[in-house]
Amino acid sequence: MKFDSLIIGGGVAGLSCAIRCAEAGMKTAVIAAGQSALHFSSGSIDFLSRLPNGQPVYHPMAAFDELQQQSPEHPYCKLGKRKVQEALDWYQEMIKARGIYLSSQEDEANHLRLTPMGTFRSTWLSQQTVHQFPLTNTAGELNHIALVTIDGFRDFQPKLAADNLSKLAQFKDVKITTAAVELPDFEEMQRNPCEFRSIDISRVLRDERKLHAFAKSMIQAVGKADLVVLPAVFGNGDGAAIIKLLEGLTGFTICELPTMPPSLLGIRLEEAMKSHLKMLGGIILVGDEVQRGDIENGELKRVFTRNHRDMPLIADNYLIATGSFFSRGMAAQRLSIDEPIFNLDTVAIPDRDQWYQPEFFTSKAHPFLKMGVICNDQLQASANNQTVDNLFCAGALLAHYDPVFEGCGSGVAISTGFHVAEQMISKHTAHQNQNNKERTVA
Ligand SMILES: Cc1cc2nc3c(=O)[nH]c(=O)nc-3n(C[C@H](O)[C@H](O)[C@H](O)COP(=O)(O)OP(=O)(O)OC[C@H]3O[C@@H](n4cnc5c(N)ncnc54)[C@H](O)[C@@H]3O)c2cc1C
Repeated sequence: MKFDSLIIGGGVAGLSCAIRCAEAGMKTAVIAAGQSALHFSSGSIDFLSRLPNGQPVYHPMAAFDELQQQSPEHPYCKLGKRKVQEALDWYQEMIKARGIYLSSQEDEANHLRLTPMGTFRSTWLSQQTVHQFPLTNTAGELNHIALVTIDGFRDFQPKLAADNLSKLAQFKDVKITTAAVELPDFEEMQRNPCEFRSIDISRVLRDERKLHAFAKSMIQAVGKADLVVLPAVFGNGDGAAIIKLLEGLTGFTICELPTMPPSLLGIRLEEAMKSHLKMLGGIILVGDEVQRGDIENGELKRVFTRNHRDMPLIADNYLIATGSFFSRGMAAQRLSIDEPIFNLDTVAIPDRDQWYQPEFFTSKAHPFLKMGVICNDQLQASANNQTVDNLFCAGALLAHYDPVFEGCGSGVAISTGFHVAEQMISKHTAHQNQNNKERTVA
């Protein structure tokens, strides 16, 4: 099988690149071995919450020069401010066309999103159903917040969240209450506790009759509140519409927060991107896995997958966006780290004791998160110190940045995926122009 662009990895980075290539009319395929980090994420897009030295970032765009000083190898610095802005603008527009409205604060500053633990995390873009708490005057005009769960649901504990939230100085004058609302069909679902996850509840609440019953119980259990916070238990594609309906039925202002995996807010983004790619004619080989490839004279010639065995997949250009250790895009050995498909050049720390902080939960960065694949400014990978011209890399497998400490995971994934697509498109266009010229001469 022959493609213009072949993308290895079906996370935000791979899908962003694939969609942009397919928009440009290129024959594009994605190979996605398993679930991406989106199934575990908040569904908010972190751009840059902290500089490498730990300084909090208020306005990501304004922090670019300082980032360049502190971390010139950072993927954002390879792309430059304008390209990153262009990529994030493109992503917002593309996902809006699929019904998901991602927005930042009016002045484009970071905001805080509430976590299921009742703590806050700084982020840049959130979905329309997520309440954006400003970085300053965080509680704003709120006088009463109700943290509400579904009776028997284990993945969100509102009492724990309320406890933590009420300890924050900004919320000392805010009344915080909790409630548990009964779900129709609860008895039946509870027979198997494994079937009482967010995704199972979303199936029940998609039934309008059951949503009406749920709304009635909610009014009784909650009473009054300025803001009702519910765990994200509303459908993948139609979650926002169901919440609007529930707001109409109850009269509450409702927002949702991501739960333990599966995270419906993250899955919503993935489903939207996948359906957009398919609509553009892109192919997704779900559940297949690239196992090896042939690199000859600085070019990737072909790749082999688990399902296609000795039948290679061939493309003019390839992207590797297989994620970090979490998605098995990188593998840690006793004293080294590897990129397991092509054995690409990586940045590693020789002394294993220096890979991590002694305490797992720490305010400091874990150095292993900056270990990953080396690339040049065009995001081309290298093997044995030789650049592979048609193999690009994007997303979490890249070295020199820390998605957790710096709060920049999805921002880097989107912008590097987009940047690679732009290069693939210009190579493809140049190739087509050359072919046309040769045909005209002949
Ligand atoms: C638990 C968790 C929560 C996070 N939450 C957030 C958040 O809330 N906001 C935020 O901005 N960032 C978050 N991040 C950061 C995250 O790293 C990025 O946001 C982004 O999702 C990374 O995307 P990616 O496409 O590079 O990699 P991934 O999302 O990891 O996707 C890699 C894909 O490649 C596939 N793959 C791996 N090997 C192969 C192979 N050999 N062949 C074919 N396919 C393969 C995997 O199965 C997977 O589908 C979170 C990260 C983690 C781990």
